[in-house]
Amino acid sequence: MERTLVILKPSAVQRGLIGDIITRFEKKGLMLSGMKMAWLSDELLTEHYAHLKEKSFFKRIKDAMRVCPVIICCVEGIDAVHVIRTMVGPTNGRDALPGTIRGDFSMSIQENLVHASDSVEAAEIELKRFFMKDEIYEYVPQLMRSLYANDEV
Ligand code: ADP
Repeated sequence: MERTLVILKPSAVQRGLIGDIITRFEKKGLMLSGMKMAWLSDELLTEHYAHLKEKSFFKRIKDAMRVCPVIICCVEGIDAVHVIRTMVGPTNGRDALPGTIRGDFSMSIQENLVHASDSVEAAEIELKRFFMKDEIYEYVPQLMRSLYANDEV
């Protein structure tokens, strides 16, 4: 099973969309193996968004992530990174197709509700960045046989 990092950004928390977004992952058949609320530090965000540090909006996106606490999730499933990126949609909410989280709920390139790791390698690094080892739980979902065929698991 693959694990990925999902952060429900302040835009999702402020707009009361935590439940709607988590429900989509649950209904898809993905599994939550870690979840917590935290107020992120500027230092942690500088590390997390290091690939954007030359951009004019670097400080602005970090500040937007510190408007209020966020919800940090470890989500698990076969091909979880790819499945969740598809469910989230492209960065700009105005370009995202209906049916995706950003396509259904966001009108913005910045206030786009969700962060989701963009590769398996990034997921591994990001999960370590945001979770202590004992905050991620191993358990077998009871519905496993209804979610996947034997040869998929
Ligand atoms: P994604 O979150 O889709 O993987 P990036 O890693 O490129 O996208 O960017 C991280 C976050 O920075 C985006 O989710 C968005 O909130 C913000 N961002 C990206 N590009 C812009 C932009 N041109 N203007 C404002 N904010 C942006």
